[in-house]
Amino acid sequence: MSVSSEDLFGQILGLGEDWEVHQTEYVEEKNTIFIRVRETASLLSSQRCREDKRYKVKLYDHAPSRFWRHLNVFNRECVIECALPRLQCKHCGKVWRAKAPWEGKCKGLSSEFEAFALTLMKEMPVKSAGKILGENDHRLWRVLRAYVEEAKEALDFESVTRVGSDELSYRKGHKYLTVFADMKEKRVLFATKGKGKDTWEAFSDELLKRNGHPHAITHAAIDMSPSYQSGVRNNCRNARIVFDRFHVMKLIGDRVDEVRQAENRRGTTDAKKQLKKTMWLWRKNPENLTEPQRMHFDRIDHDCLWTSKAYQMRLALRNIYNQVPYESWARRRLQSWCHWVRKTAAKAPHLFASPMLRAAESIEKHQDGILAFWGSGRMTTAYLEGLNSVFSAVKRKARGFRNPDNLITMLYFVAGKIDILKNKQATH
Ligand SMILES: [Zn+2]
Repeated sequence: MSVSSEDLFGQILGLGEDWEVHQTEYVEEKNTIFIRVRETASLLSSQRCREDKRYKVKLYDHAPSRFWRHLNVFNRECVIECALPRLQCKHCGKVWRAKAPWEGKCKGLSSEFEAFALTLMKEMPVKSAGKILGENDHRLWRVLRAYVEEAKEALDFESVTRVGSDELSYRKGHKYLTVFADMKEKRVLFATKGKGKDTWEAFSDELLKRNGHPHAITHAAIDMSPSYQSGVRNNCRNARIVFDRFHVMKLIGDRVDEVRQAENRRGTTDAKKQLKKTMWLWRKNPENLTEPQRMHFDRIDHDCLWTSKAYQMRLALRNIYNQVPYESWARRRLQSWCHWVRKTAAKAPHLFASPMLRAAESIEKHQDGILAFWGSGRMTTAYLEGLNSVFSAVKRKARGFRNPDNLITMLYFVAGKIDILKNKQATH
């Protein structure tokens, strides 16, 4: 038994009874296979009025031909062409356009094509997926946005009680997104432009929209920016602010870096010599140094460097986090840490004293939020820390993303734990 190419394509497309391929054509100059589809008589008997299922329909007319990019066949672009019928209710006279089974969520794309595009985008940057598919990335972003927006409708924030937020800088010149994450479920919940206190208002609105509540938030892990603090206080009145371990350590790390830079400029000749090419040695933790870095670090004459002193203080603070199990104990250790810093700074030159005194002041001023780390049962911050690698992955995949909304879409796609393709099957 021989099968015509029309029948074959009809089967591949999964057209069923209501549609048939009536012509296929390879257009060489476009390197494209056109699959021309039309409705069969059974479409009219299988459809009912959209207002009242009891009433039958008749053919009203055909809309102008439309085209849907489909999956390639034998490495040729493949396009479905169809003049979709418009149906009319025999009873009420209403007219509507029939929906075809291959239609995707985006104009001009079949749902199979969209599913394949999503699979590629999961694995690689949007631009690379565009090259493989021979589509411009505008169109692929549109596909991604359509699916993410639909999947977001299924999100439920009812059990969200512990959140962390962090800023993601996406363009030089201080362009930021604030990203909110569920610390228990380890997923991105929401992201919005800016890094002011109004980002918390937007987040609260989102919680309410998705079956959650801002007053249900018990812990909010944030960095020490005053705007986030007032954002939490104004919106989540039951939340204890937790100054995240990761952000506290980053703040101290930045002060150590300031000491290094100042000593590199204004320190003794010997100190400047010692500090050459050492930036990363101080930024890393000792166990993360590579073998050559460790050897370099051991050769440094630490007694002659204020930078070493500051670094030692950073490690001491880190030890408090690593070793101390209770809040009351942590309070004493933090106080004695600040005392040590102040005593040392009193005898130290400005290049050390200025940054490190500021560090001690920050610790004292934010003591309650810092201690909340212990009070919250050492609220796990690994996820917030990990969020930074998520951000890098998102930026890499979204390279040339054109606008921040695309970046937010990619955040959901990568880290929102939304099941896009499952959602797709559920709607077909
Ligand atoms: Zn009707």
